[in-house]
Amino acid sequence: MSTTSDITRRAEEMTNDSGGFPPQEQRPPGLSSEMTPVPDHGEQTYRGSGKLQGMKALITGGDSGIGRAAAIAYAREGADLAISYLPEEESDAQDTRGWIEDAGRRAVLLPCDLRDETQCRQMVRDAAQQLGGLDILVNNAGYQHARGEGLETIDSENMDPVFKTNLYATIWASQEALDHLGPGSSIITTTSIQAYQPAPPLLDYAATKSALNNFTVNLASELGPRGIRVNAVAPGPIWTPLQPATQPGEKLEEFGSDTPLGRAGQPAECAGAFVFLASPADAGYVSGTVLGVTGGKPVF
Ligand code: NAD
Ligand code: MG
Repeated sequence: MSTTSDITRRAEEMTNDSGGFPPQEQRPPGLSSEMTPVPDHGEQTYRGSGKLQGMKALITGGDSGIGRAAAIAYAREGADLAISYLPEEESDAQDTRGWIEDAGRRAVLLPCDLRDETQCRQMVRDAAQQLGGLDILVNNAGYQHARGEGLETIDSENMDPVFKTNLYATIWASQEALDHLGPGSSIITTTSIQAYQPAPPLLDYAATKSALNNFTVNLASELGPRGIRVNAVAPGPIWTPLQPATQPGEKLEEFGSDTPLGRAGQPAECAGAFVFLASPADAGYVSGTVLGVTGGKPVF
């Protein structure tokens, strides 16, 4: 008898002999629907069991990739969802909306640019207002800038969107969410294996992800007395639009091949971590932790 799950089997079948994917490129932010193969977000596999029944969650970057997988899983666990995304990702966001509504839950769609403080704060207020409250904030939107190697290739123009999207927006959104989060609620931030094993071409991105790990631990201390838990998920190489949109296309053939499991992961393989950390029953005493979903790469 095989103990390999359907999700793992699908993920293994989707990769080439090196563990990666066919060369391809998109303009940022990229669309899930234009990837080959189209990623697996758990559409056919995720089974809910009421772990988040009646909760209200906001997932930034919930249109595609890891955010979409978390959104589908949260909806099937009984949560209503607000997702934010860039206006040019409307078609991916509509796909995610369809999966949330198929699960019988509410989907609130909030297009905005998180690099803008006013839009970012308004997005959180709109989510809470339209959902009628907020129990889970997932700071998942992220951006990395494709550039050459070398410190000299970083300039303010290309560094600014990386820091604004990953770090500033996470802090702005978390501040704004505090008006709505009560005991039992939680903040979950998507960090990265890059916080632990930084690659020189991602120097600025990796620095933001390391900072987010530190932010997670520190904010967990501050919010613990209010009964609010703060955690992070650190993914390894996952097949999402971020990759063809921000890497040289030919690098994707080897994407994930350097992990102990020997392949890239699918967004569906991250969903369980986000559900666990959000679940008051499963993770009620878990705060200030970073949960790796890395194919075996160390997260310490
Ligand atoms: P993705 O492209 O599907 O998701 C990223 C999302 O960020 C986009 O869908 C977009 O909606 C949002 N976003 C980017 N810039 C924005 C802006 N200015 N305003 C509003 N929204 C914006 O890719 P993903 O890989 O699922 O990314 C999700 C998170 O996972 C990111 O934080 C990323 O850094 C992190 N991550 C990804 C990997 C990986 O290998 N894919 C590995 C480690 C960490
Ligand atoms: Mg997207």
